[in-house]
Amino acid sequence: MLKAEERSILFTACAGHPVASCNHCLRRFRPDQLVCHLRAPMQGFLCPECRRDVTASVSTHVSSCPAFAELHGRKAG
Ligand SMILES: [Zn+2]
Ligand SMILES: [Zn+2]
Repeated sequence: MLKAEERSILFTACAGHPVASCNHCLRRFRPDQLVCHLRAPMQGFLCPECRRDVTASVSTHVSSCPAFAELHGRKAG
């Protein structure tokens, strides 16, 4: 699960590269390709192909992405 601030950073810093991978489809997706949870759009992301939850892989990405860290660090101060 990502905080609102982290989501906005994700869509800015990581807009140009894949941030999630689906173990079922064996595909990778950019933020704008992911589907948000309909009932709780702030809580996670779904695979656009099979609608499985890929939030965990997004979380893994943001914790290791230099672009995300740079923007997050700037925002934090
Ligand atoms: Zn990234
Ligand atoms: Zn999938």
